[in-house]
Amino acid sequence: QALGEASVAPLAIFSLDLDRFKAVNDTFGHPAGDWLLKCVAERLQRCLRNETDVVARFGGDEFAIIQFGVNGVADAERLARRIVEVIGKPYRDKSREMHVGISCGIALYPDDGKDADTLLKNADMALYRGKSEGRNVYRFFEPGMDAMVRARQALETDLEAALPRNEFELEFQPIMNIAAGDIVGAEALMRWHSPTRGLVSPDNFIPAAEETGLIVQLGDWALRKACTAAAGWPHAMRIAVNVSAVQIKSGSFARSVISALAFSGVPAHRLELEITETVLMDESDTVLKTLSQLRDLGIRIALDDFGTGYSSLGYLRRFPVDKIKIDRSFIRDIDNRDSAAIVRTVIGLGAQLGITVTAEGVETEAQLDMLRKAGCVEAQGYLIGVPAKAAQINRLLRSGMALRQSG
Ligand code: C2E
Ligand code: CA
Ligand code: CA
Repeated sequence: QALGEASVAPLAIFSLDLDRFKAVNDTFGHPAGDWLLKCVAERLQRCLRNETDVVARFGGDEFAIIQFGVNGVADAERLARRIVEVIGKPYRDKSREMHVGISCGIALYPDDGKDADTLLKNADMALYRGKSEGRNVYRFFEPGMDAMVRARQALETDLEAALPRNEFELEFQPIMNIAAGDIVGAEALMRWHSPTRGLVSPDNFIPAAEETGLIVQLGDWALRKACTAAAGWPHAMRIAVNVSAVQIKSGSFARSVISALAFSGVPAHRLELEITETVLMDESDTVLKTLSQLRDLGIRIALDDFGTGYSSLGYLRRFPVDKIKIDRSFIRDIDNRDSAAIVRTVIGLGAQLGITVTAEGVETEAQLDMLRKAGCVEAQGYLIGVPAKAAQINRLLRSGMALRQSG
């Protein structure tokens, strides 16, 4: 109907989706979630300029808007900005304060489509792109976006099929105690050998696996596989496994970890779970409870990529971690005075708090030397050893020597 009228004036279609709405439901319960949705609907209505604009709920936490009389991108952009700002403000009732964000995808008539189906599809496409780049954003549809979205969807489809087909493998990278010069364990790193894509790096497929939820099964597989490998290592050797926020939030995570330990016979104190700061940023109790429960069993928790995120020291108080891994970007730039100062400070912080500090991405003797002098406890990187197949790492750990020393 609107398109009939649009021959006179162009219009914009907004596809909207709330960010972190599930966390509200999980934390405050469904009645609170329902109440919040109503507040969002009211705020959306108030964002609209005139009587004719239409806002609708499409289902769940998805909404759509038809904005009339749009004279170019700037008009739609103004509304998008207002929506992101207004929806992002806190929601308060008597006793509680809740937060959600919103992402918008926008398609313009007639430029981005001539019929309703195409316009809605393209607005969705833009939304999907916005979501995958970070939340709380608006994105306009662009030609070529469908190709990118199709590529991403193809990746997700291939990924889904990859697990039953045994296309995943773990490699293990050794971790060295700097003062002693001994290997103390290894980190499991996932590899995907795709028959059509070749070797795919985890940086390229983990985000897609998180988006579809496949990471829960995949992470479960990795835990089991890693612990099984570690069962054959000398008893002092630790196994570190990367864990994504989606896994911990899934609710079955603690069970999955405990079952991997039981299945392999590896004692809890040999397992280290590497999490990133985003895990600790989650405001729901589930995450912290799950991590505390695992830590109480003797499992160690490491904070990965330290220095790249918000690096709020508040997180170190919120949850006591056992290890900090300094991100490899700081080690790479260690010749730079500021980077060196940051590295020294984090090492000092770890010493004060009784937290082991591991330097990632150590590639040169000079870097290792600096870290040794600064009192860094552990090092990991190509200099000590590249990620290697299970059989190879088994031999290495049995010999207790760094790869570089064995050739
Ligand atoms: P990460 O946890 O920071 O892992 C270290 C990454 O640095 C690995 O890349 C490793 O190969 C690379 N690396 C190690 N030493 C050096 C070095 O000296 N120089 C340089 N330039 N790079 C080095 P990889 O294997 O491609 O993994 C990338 C990321 O994928 C990991 O970063 C981790 O965040 C994620 N990832 C890997 N395996 C898993 C997994 O099983 N589960 C989850 N959730 N994420 C995983
Ligand atoms: Ca890691
Ligand atoms: Ca890291």
